[in-house]
This record gives sequence, structure tokens and C-alpha cells, in this order.
Amino acid sequence: MKTTTAQVHFNDSGTPVADHFDDVYFSNDSGIDETRHVFMSGNDLPERWHTHTGESFVIAETGFGTGLNFLVAMQAFHEFRQANPQHVLKRLYFLSTEKFPLAQKDMQHALLRFTALEHEATALATQYPIAMEGCHRMNFANYGVTLDLWMGDVHALLPQWHAPRRGLVDAWFLDGFAPSKNPDMWTAQLFSEMARLSVEGCTFGTFTAAGVVKRGLKEAGFAIQKRPGFGRKRDMLTGQYHRDAPSAPSSPPYYRFAADAVNSESHVVVVGGGLAGAAVTHALASRGIRTTVLVADEQVAQGASGNPQGGFYPQLHSEASHASQIQAHTFLYANRLYRGLAEQSSLRHEFCGVMLLGFNAAQQARQHKLITQQVWPEALIHGLDATEADTRAGVTVNSDALFVPLGGWLSPPDVVAGLFEQAAHLAPTVILTGHKVSGVVSDERHVQVHCVNGETVTADHVIMATGAESITSALFEPLALRPVRGQVEAVPTQSPLDQLQTVLCHKGYLTPACDGRHALGSTYIKNDTDTRPRAEESTQNLATHQQAMANCDWMEHLQHDGTARAAVRLGVADHQPLVGALGELDTHREHYASLASGKRVETAPLPPASRVSALTALGSRGLTTAPLLAELLASQLCHDPLPLPEPLLQALNPNRFIVRDCIRGKC
Ligand code: SAM
Repeated sequence: MKTTTAQVHFNDSGTPVADHFDDVYFSNDSGIDETRHVFMSGNDLPERWHTHTGESFVIAETGFGTGLNFLVAMQAFHEFRQANPQHVLKRLYFLSTEKFPLAQKDMQHALLRFTALEHEATALATQYPIAMEGCHRMNFANYGVTLDLWMGDVHALLPQWHAPRRGLVDAWFLDGFAPSKNPDMWTAQLFSEMARLSVEGCTFGTFTAAGVVKRGLKEAGFAIQKRPGFGRKRDMLTGQYHRDAPSAPSSPPYYRFAADAVNSESHVVVVGGGLAGAAVTHALASRGIRTTVLVADEQVAQGASGNPQGGFYPQLHSEASHASQIQAHTFLYANRLYRGLAEQSSLRHEFCGVMLLGFNAAQQARQHKLITQQVWPEALIHGLDATEADTRAGVTVNSDALFVPLGGWLSPPDVVAGLFEQAAHLAPTVILTGHKVSGVVSDERHVQVHCVNGETVTADHVIMATGAESITSALFEPLALRPVRGQVEAVPTQSPLDQLQTVLCHKGYLTPACDGRHALGSTYIKNDTDTRPRAEESTQNLATHQQAMANCDWMEHLQHDGTARAAVRLGVADHQPLVGALGELDTHREHYASLASGKRVETAPLPPASRVSALTALGSRGLTTAPLLAELLASQLCHDPLPLPEPLLQALNPNRFIVRDCIRGKC
């Protein structure tokens, strides 16, 4: 999962040069003018934005490099938006791939000379991610721009991009080092993936006029034109793609997202006032979409998102399993979102890191494996010996450990309040508390959400972000939901616990103080939905900590007054969240029963379009997973580019259990 960063040096003109490819990242003459000429004008931008009829426009690039092309496009789009505030086009998606990401210091050094892009470069630097394979989504709300930086080889990445039937990309910035220096990139496979992903009338611009590129693009179906090149280059290429058949899908039919698109004219009901509900309301509002949030309780954040403190870190295996990839990417996205949120609302939190203690021999062996396998970047997780761990923790822990420097703790109710508050600034957002939902009825045009109090709310789509409440909804009946009770102690601060400087995790977790109390949790009791605190669970929580930290005196003498809170979290058998169209899952059993006989999957029918989606079963990991999964669902609903690769979308799809049953002949 970790990627190799680029080795660069700067030539006499101050232009960055990649050692590996022995080629410049941009022209020695003027990088900005080259970008404007080759990539912007080459795709007839910004002119095409004026005639664009959709709410979003998608540029895709091969080779992010220093981000110069991105910054130029972001600046131009911002200028377009400012000059045309009423225009239907509101959002630019910039999708880029990068096999060898630049180290942040090299990127900043390379961009220093472009003073005209100073603000954009600073905005990029504040969000620039660590070098790890996969998609890093960055939202630049002030510019109306979203950047998906996909780290890895373009050949491995593009086939994992999910495209609607009409295609995905409006314009290609076909960059990359010269074909003579980087022949591996300019392949027929790349050109045919470009064709698969292009919408009707999609264009491309590239600095090269090499025969291999011209012929390859032509064979893939692009119409090609030669134009004068930039600076000393005589020619460059531009062209268009005309689609005569739907885009070849990257997934079998049963895993395709099946909901009619929503847009800024739509009204979406979100059921649930916890982290999932708040995060998806925020993600929709940032697209200008009006929401009504129905909350069963008299206030938001009363369920599992009501604990005063929650540990914030990814649960990683030594292999890059799907579960670990979901954890790593949701964590990094949430980290970016929370840092932004903390600047704008009062959010009790500390990004003080999270320490995972090697509390027994089996755990130490697992941790040792994780470090030696070197799957994850050090900036995400690294090892500490017992002395380093003591120093970092501020108290004696007497154990080797893993450390997640970007982690910490946050107050989930503050996160929920902050997200709803921001959402209300971005789009009309109505929160109706005391509105318990009793039923959801869809027809061809609308969905009606009926409440126990007799009220009905009509919308274009409804999102069930209902956490443990999902078990009472008929919509989830076909799924085996698993509610789990968890009790967390609120331990009064005391010496030496008041010295704790990081979150400690073992079988349980312990946080630094918030308002004079430390969260110490948690019990895990399956199928128990009672939320009254229990003295025996307080005893159990303390015992878990004392056992895991048996050689730490201070833990043995911890004083607790019994203050605790219990809540019910929701999980499913494979411990992954449920994100996507919910549909009538039972009818899918009939649709896909033939999978058992090994029938070709491509002939299976598409799931019928649904007006109901789910964002639930986040278990006790909602702080980590909710923001990116909400962003994913909002993107799916808007038929926008998705921030996760196809295999992870399938691992999250609510349909997966039924598909697995059908394949095993159990439908
Ligand atoms: N667009 C960049 C900018 O604005 O600074 C300049 C791009 S530079 C000329 C080419 C980039 O393509 C390099 O960053 C290189 O690492 C990347 N690259 C080369 N081969 C690649 C591949 N197979 N997959 C993804 N990226 C690749």
C-alpha cells in the first residue's frame, strides 16, 4: 500500500527533473503557459465550461507530478465560477494518477516559482496526502473543486474506476514523461481504458505528437488533430471521443449502483442524527442538495455517536486486506475533514496520536509482522520500543507498541453538531427531532417517509443512516444485522492518568481527559439492546485494562466512581459497513439465483433502480469511516466520480450478502 516517492533534482533553470525518467516535470520556459496551452486550450477550456449542461465537469490526468496542471485548472475553474455564479456547472472533479508521488517538500519547492498560483499551492499543501496507494480525495470547497489523487500505476488504477453507462471523463490531460523516456505508460491498454471512461464528446490534449500515441489513440476510437506545440515543440495532439455504445462496466451487474441521480434540484431525506447521518447530510449539502433529517430522539447524537470521546485511528492488518484499505483511506479522509472542521466549529478533540500496545505475545507477534511487512507508510503507522512508548504516552506502559501519529480522540457529539452546522450554511437543511420513522414507500417518482407521529415527508431519495435502529426497519430484513451493546466508563482524572498524552489501545481503549474525565471502554455484548449502564460492566471494563496492562502499577490503583454510558452499535457478519443502494434486496435473490449455476454474470439483469440507500453498520468505527463513506454515497447518488476503487465498493455494497448466497446456491 505504501508507494515509492519520486527522486528529483532541480536543473539550472530550477525545473524539477525525475531521476528515474531523466525528464522534466514541466517546460523550462514557462510551466504555467505550457499547461494553459497544451492541456487547457488543448481541451478548449475554459470555453467548454460555458456550454456545459451538467452540474459537474470531470478532468482526468495521467501523472500528477507537482500538481501544476491541477492548480492551473483549479484557478481557472474558480475564475469561471466567480464570473458565472448562476451557471449550472458548479463543481470540477480533477482525477489524477501518480505512480511516484513527490515528497511534499519537493512539491512545494517546485511550485514556489509560480507566484500567480500561491493561494492554490498553499491549499494543496495543507491537504497533500501521505504516499499510499489508492484514492486520496481532497475537497477545495472555496474553489468548487474536488481532487481525487489516485496513487499507483495508471494501468492498474483506471480499470478500477467506476464509470456510469454514459462514461465519466469530459477531458483528458494526457501527461506523463515523453514516450521515449517512459514507454511503459503510453500503451494500447491505457488508450482503451481512456475510451472506456470517456463521455460522448470527451476531449484530450497532450504535449507529444509521437506516432505511438497518435496511432494508439486513433485505434482506441479517438479522432485526432495536430496543433502547434508549446515553446520549442513543433506539434502536439488533441482529439475527441464519440461514444456509440454504453461504457463497458468495471463491475458485474449486481454490484452496479442502482439509483436515479439526484442533483441540486432534489430533496433527500436522511434518517438518523448520528455520525453517519451528519456526515452524509454534510456531503450532500456541499453539493447544494437540500435535505430533511429525521431524528427519532429529541436531540441529535443520542445513540452510539453520543459518547463524549471516541478514539480515532484505523484498524490495520499486516496485509492490505480490503478491510484494512477501507480503514486506511477512510481514516486519512476523516483526518482532513476533521482538521478543517476544527478550524470552523468548537470541536473537543486532540490529534495526540493513538498507541496500540503489544499487550501479549500474540499481539506482539502481529505487530512485529505489521512492521516487518512494510505494507503501510511510516507516516500512517510505525513501531515504538517500550522506552519510546513510555515517553510518548506520558505514563508507564511497559510495552512495545505501534503508533498512529495522525490519530487521537474526538467528541462525536461535537463532530455531529459541527457537520450539521456546516451543512446548514451550504444548503437548506432541516433537522426534525422527535420524528421516528415507521415506514418508507417508494413509487416511480418519489419516496414517502412516514413517521410514528403521523407526519409524512416526500423526497426524491431517502438515506437510512439509522445505526442500531436499522434492526426495526423492514428495509433491512433480508440482512443479518448484529446489534452490539458497548459500555464506556467516564473515569475521573487523577494522578498519574492526568499525564496521559495519547490514546492507549489494547483490547480496550483509554483516552486523555476531556472535561475532567477519561473514556475507558468498552464492553462488547452481542444482541443486547439495553442502554442502561451496569455496574458489572464497569468492573469488567476495569478488569480488561488491568489485565492488558498488568505490569503498570497506576492502572492497578485506578479509582472510578462508576459513571458510564452504554449504547448499541450495529454490525454485520463481515464487519464491513453497508453503503449503497438498498433496493428490494429480496427481489435480488430471484434475479441472481442463476449465479449458482455459473451462468455468465454479464447476462444477469441490473438491479432495479431504488430510491432508498443505506449508510449504516459502522460498528464502533464511525468516527473513522463515516466521512469518506458519506462522501462515497453522495457521489454515487450524484453519478459523480467515486473516491474508492471497484473492489472496495463491492466490499461495502449492501447487496453483497445476497450475491454471495446466490453464488453458493443458497438463494
Ligand atoms: N502533470 C504534472 C505536473 O503538473 O507537474 C507533470 C507530470 S510529469 C511530466 C509525469 C508524471 O507521470 C510523473 O509524476 C510520473 O511519476 C508520472 N508517471 C509516469 N508513469 C506513470 C504511470 N505508469 N502511472 C502513473 N503515473 C506515472
